[in-house]
Amino acid sequence: MDDGKKVWAPHPTDGFIQGQIVDITSDSITVETFTGSAGNKTIEANYDRVYPSEDDDTKDVDDNCALMYLNEATLLNNVRLRYKRDQIYTYVANILIAVNPYREIKNIYCVDTIRHYKGKSIGVMPPHVFAIADKAYRDMRMLKESQSIIVSGEVGAGKTESTKYVLRYLTQNWGSHAGPIEERILQANPLLEAFGNAKTVRNNNSSRFGKFVEIHFSSQGVVDGGYISHYLLEKSRICVQNREERNYHVFYQMCAGAPAQMKQQLRLGSPDQFHYLRQGCLRDPVLDDAADFGVTEDAMRQLGFRDDERRNIYAIVAGVLHLGNVSFEDDEHNSRGGSVVSNVGSNALSLTSAIFGLENDELRDALTARVMQSKGGVKGTVIKVPLKVYEAMNARDALAKAIYAKLFDSIVRKINDCIPLKSSANYIGVLDIAGFEYFPINSFEQFCINYCNEKLQQFFNERILKDEQRLYEYEGLGLRQVNYSDNQDCIDLIEAKAVGIFDLLDEESKLPRPDPANFTASVHQKYPNHFRLSVPRKSRLKEHRELRTEDGFLVRHFAGAVCYQTAQFIEKNNDALHASLAMLLAEANNAFLRALFTEGSAKAASSAGGGGGDGGVRKGKLTFISIGNKFRTQLGSLMEKLRSTGTSFIRCIKPNQNMVGHKFEGAQILSQLQCSGMASVPASWVREGYRPAHQLLRSTACTNQYLQEARHLHPRMFCKVVKALFKALSKKTFSPPKRRRTSDSDSRRCSSDLESLR
Ligand code: ATP
Ligand code: MG
Repeated sequence: MDDGKKVWAPHPTDGFIQGQIVDITSDSITVETFTGSAGNKTIEANYDRVYPSEDDDTKDVDDNCALMYLNEATLLNNVRLRYKRDQIYTYVANILIAVNPYREIKNIYCVDTIRHYKGKSIGVMPPHVFAIADKAYRDMRMLKESQSIIVSGEVGAGKTESTKYVLRYLTQNWGSHAGPIEERILQANPLLEAFGNAKTVRNNNSSRFGKFVEIHFSSQGVVDGGYISHYLLEKSRICVQNREERNYHVFYQMCAGAPAQMKQQLRLGSPDQFHYLRQGCLRDPVLDDAADFGVTEDAMRQLGFRDDERRNIYAIVAGVLHLGNVSFEDDEHNSRGGSVVSNVGSNALSLTSAIFGLENDELRDALTARVMQSKGGVKGTVIKVPLKVYEAMNARDALAKAIYAKLFDSIVRKINDCIPLKSSANYIGVLDIAGFEYFPINSFEQFCINYCNEKLQQFFNERILKDEQRLYEYEGLGLRQVNYSDNQDCIDLIEAKAVGIFDLLDEESKLPRPDPANFTASVHQKYPNHFRLSVPRKSRLKEHRELRTEDGFLVRHFAGAVCYQTAQFIEKNNDALHASLAMLLAEANNAFLRALFTEGSAKAASSAGGGGGDGGVRKGKLTFISIGNKFRTQLGSLMEKLRSTGTSFIRCIKPNQNMVGHKFEGAQILSQLQCSGMASVPASWVREGYRPAHQLLRSTACTNQYLQEARHLHPRMFCKVVKALFKALSKKTFSPPKRRRTSDSDSRRCSSDLESLR
């Protein structure tokens, strides 16, 4: 790095800006920018934030590994150049970066394109989500090993759309053409989206749950079945939404598109009649709720949901809406306080009771009083404690959330029943789950999702870096260990048995009077000097009250520090209804509703391992079913699955916060690349002065350039690299099977390149 050298310097909005070095001191570099606006002509930055630029910085490459200088800035510039040219996909070796175009790009997903990608090695065709799907399929066939594709990225980055393209590619190319299996797998998406997606400020079709969709194949490589696992549906949305957001799509779809008879039967009117809908916004210009009702209905039919099953589902959705309209007021006749259902709310109460098959009085009682075990007196005596208005509202909301969440579980179960899963040889699983989240206020949901991302990051490190390292050793390169930040300490902090944050939370939750402040204190006491944990940081936002020590804790995640507010952790961690409501539902005349709580919750309770294997119905006792524990268990088995499969990664990138095309916000994109490990992976390779031979052998375009570039290495390193290439080729370890012509020609070309170098 000398004076006059063309470099990238850090920039607050663009991520990096180009310029040339004008001064170098002992600890910083001064760069004069080429395009800087007035007042921003020179930038002084630390050494390690200034990166060399490519000689020709207007030329983009399909694979970042083909760049001369592999660093964050050239990576960002390459992605930027390609985005401007409508090339939204870019590789970093075998990892795909996908920038959301927020508009249709002609022909990139059409049938012809699908055909063109079939059977082609990565690097033969331009980068594409189809190429990743094809690689997964070929690896599955060749290695006889199941595969998984991990799609990650922040809200609105394009995970769900990418997932759908992968599923379409696989089912279209290798569907049986004889049965409806692949059609059913595809139809699961609109159905899941109707019940589990909602309009948010960041994405008008935001998935509020995670999913792992497996497509199973026979030994002949034909689609043979499917299976969907789902994770963490956001329950709070069922009762409360921000002003610009909405509840789950299905509510509006039914209000707008249900047939007149159904609307009449279920007393559905416009969304503004319902408390659970009118807090948020009612319409979205992009969404056509009436037409989407038809899409949901078609999906259910095609999946094989019977008429009565569909009717049952719609009735529960309508019941939840009516339940939300049950309102309360102070009970003036009760000297001990308490509440009664208001006049306005009583109509809603009877509609709810009718739909759910409950006795009106019993529902009213269960909402306005809580059954508890008396402290003194005869052991086991059950008493009724009247609830205050806000407590009754909480009980109502808890009931609505429990019913909707159980309904969602049952829909996923039903979808799985409709898609056969026989004796498959192998599967390809696609994971579509929320990325790292950091909001002004972070609660239990963010804690769970960020924990999940820690686990996925660890897996990514394992697959991309540890495996890489093993390969270095195998190739006899004797390189230094590749350094990467190990996050096991952060995972332990959260999930360790007995001492992890999840277990501390469960411990507090099982007490007769759990208290968020006690829980928070127990976390701080347990970890007074843990590198990953500290007392909450002062909020930078003026409008937010400053957090005190007892209000929460700060966790230093791999992707950044997040301050969690613990006020609602205990409540959000509990999947059990209070006993009166649970007992009521277990006796409902609506058999479908009853089954949701008897079958579903018994399973949930046993898999959660938290309190009560009786589905939360335990007379007179406080019940507790730990959501954190259930998620930890679910995630444990997901990780086990992922570890037993070959893996591909798709990193989705959101180009701007306005959700529009043609807008590349460099700094935000850079931060996403950093969070997803995309910036550090190539950097670590380049630090070691070596790019793994096999990665490049797979990429036709790279081989030649790689060898050219290898000349710049230290002679000893150069010899090692060339030796490794020969070894790889002679052993045919990394050369693809003979059947595939393109790959053989790759190897031949590579051999001749090597010959010429000799
Ligand atoms: P969330 O975490 O909120 O579920 P997500 O990552 O799943 O977000 P998507 O719902 O897949 O995001 O994408 C958001 C929107 O971006 C889509 O509704 C669509 O309008 C647009 N979009 C995503 N991918 C593409 C694409 N490949 N081509 C065109 N538009 C796209
Ligand atoms: Mg999504």
